[in-house]
Amino acid sequence: MGSLRLSNVTKRYDDVVAVNDMNLDIEDSEFISLVGPSGCGKSTTLKMIGGLEHPSEGTVRIDGEDVTDDPPKDRGLAMVFQNIALFPHMNVYDNMSYGLRIRGSASDEIDHRVDEAAETLKLEGMLDRMPSELSGGQRQRVAIGRAIVREPEVFLMDEPLANLDAKLRVHMRTELQRIQRKFNVTTIYVTHDQEEAMTMSDRVAIINDGELQQIAPPLECYHEPENRFVAGFIGSPSMNFVEGTVRDGRFESEKFDLDVRDFDLGGAEHLTVGIRPEDVYFAESKETNSSEPIRATVDVTEPIGEKVFVYLYTQSENELSNRDLTDIDAEGRSQFLMSAPPDREVSEGDTIDVVLDRRSIHLFDTETGEAVAHGVEPKSTPTP
Ligand code: ADP
Repeated sequence: MGSLRLSNVTKRYDDVVAVNDMNLDIEDSEFISLVGPSGCGKSTTLKMIGGLEHPSEGTVRIDGEDVTDDPPKDRGLAMVFQNIALFPHMNVYDNMSYGLRIRGSASDEIDHRVDEAAETLKLEGMLDRMPSELSGGQRQRVAIGRAIVREPEVFLMDEPLANLDAKLRVHMRTELQRIQRKFNVTTIYVTHDQEEAMTMSDRVAIINDGELQQIAPPLECYHEPENRFVAGFIGSPSMNFVEGTVRDGRFESEKFDLDVRDFDLGGAEHLTVGIRPEDVYFAESKETNSSEPIRATVDVTEPIGEKVFVYLYTQSENELSNRDLTDIDAEGRSQFLMSAPPDREVSEGDTIDVVLDRRSIHLFDTETGEAVAHGVEPKSTPTP
């Protein structure tokens, strides 16, 4: 068993509030990622679960038992960190069995557990090797093996793949999921990489400025972000945001106007439209629930193979030379992005009509950032 509950947990360092009133309920065997930008409080949260930091307020419970004041060794946890600290003078077997040996486990029990972990981690045949004879990925697997043999209730991992090269990282993601399923251990995984969080987790906890923004399964965070922060953080490339005002059922902005009569706006007047680049289409595409066409000029195109990123500025904006510079990103591209299929040629300066998929239009209250609506279902199928 390894359920976990954080209740109103706050951590202050002098005048820095690293974690603010965090409530988290994690079920036995769940794989949860804590994700957010650097400095948002992920590691501090993990350390409070692990007992390496004491909360300023609030309680940490494991399997219903208050462990807030318990030292790490009494919490039934295992931790794996970014910097793998294997003992350099010990071989793989000794590294993996170290924790069990100092605990005084029987030697046949140690052998059994190390063999089982080595098999799962594909480290059989390497038990005699020294850490210097292993690749980065193998060393990381030994570190995980060392944690697994202790049969923890909860696994805590802080960016364990950060030091591996990109290809190995993707491979290790799959490995970790497989290991987690095999051992069925509740896992809390810290990462700043939303893609890593999205691909590995049962649920993703998105944190910003020490506060939990949303905790939900990956696709729910993608399709129904609770606020503008989550909407912008989850998904790559990021969602486009356009701020405007609602008048007589029409959203009006400098970029484009949009009919929003079908959306339940709950009285909000200052709205931000959010649309993902992959939900912007060429007007002639066969989308059945398109918005009215938006005339746009192609600024920059970036072909990446299976799709092309098309940076647009809309015709209702001023000419390129007069455009507001806040609308241009650090690389000098306009900020309205479309992710288009590669089969239609578009070039810089072309005038095109695009539509937004109304099922995927997100509306946020500009003042609070809270989501107001996520798309409308097609009301009827247009007759051809
Ligand atoms: P993350 O893991 O999301 O990058 P951290 O949890 O490490 O963020 O840090 C959250 C905030 O708390 C940051 O502003 C960081 O500077 C601050 N912080 C973390 N640890 C300490 C500490 N020991 N002393 C003072 N401030 C700290």
